[in-house]
Amino acid sequence: MSKAQHLKDQLNDLIHQARIDQAIVVMNSNHTIQAITGIVQQPNWIRGFILISDDLLTLSKPGDEKHIEAMLVLAHELTHFRNRVLSQDLLSEPITADDYVNPVLAESSFLDHGVNTESVRTKFIEEICCRHVSWRVHQDLIEDHARQRINAGVIVRPHALEDLKSNLTVGSLISCGTKIGRNFAYLF
Ligand SMILES: [Zn+2]
Repeated sequence: MSKAQHLKDQLNDLIHQARIDQAIVVMNSNHTIQAITGIVQQPNWIRGFILISDDLLTLSKPGDEKHIEAMLVLAHELTHFRNRVLSQDLLSEPITADDYVNPVLAESSFLDHGVNTESVRTKFIEEICCRHVSWRVHQDLIEDHARQRINAGVIVRPHALEDLKSNLTVGSLISCGTKIGRNFAYLF
């Protein structure tokens, strides 16, 4: 994050520079945000950048307390970037009775809240995907770590690996949705 200005210096593109400025303002105004992926769309390309907070990186060396967290944040943000084209497609999907229970109510969201339904839906789908990928990476890390300890003879209990694997439990989706709503409240 403290290097964000250097990133701007590398770009002679004013659109990117403006998006980086916006991201810096958002991160400075909310210190719980660990990273932001910025997407810049032009007619022939969609590019982007990822800003990560200094606090997260300071303690992210292997063995330090934030190492795993930094890897998961990076997995999350890279998924945002990977899905950037899909995200634009979602934004342009019309509100129809095929996808919405009440299209009239969905259309009226912008008038009531100043945010259109298409962007809320897109953000929700994006966040669910990115959080799921990050959760999967975490499961893989837990499994790798446990396997090493089993191979080293530290863990000897049968089925230890199977017991470690967690499945998404009932209510996980609701709790994730609530958290997404809280995280994005500052934008709306
Ligand atoms: Zn996200």
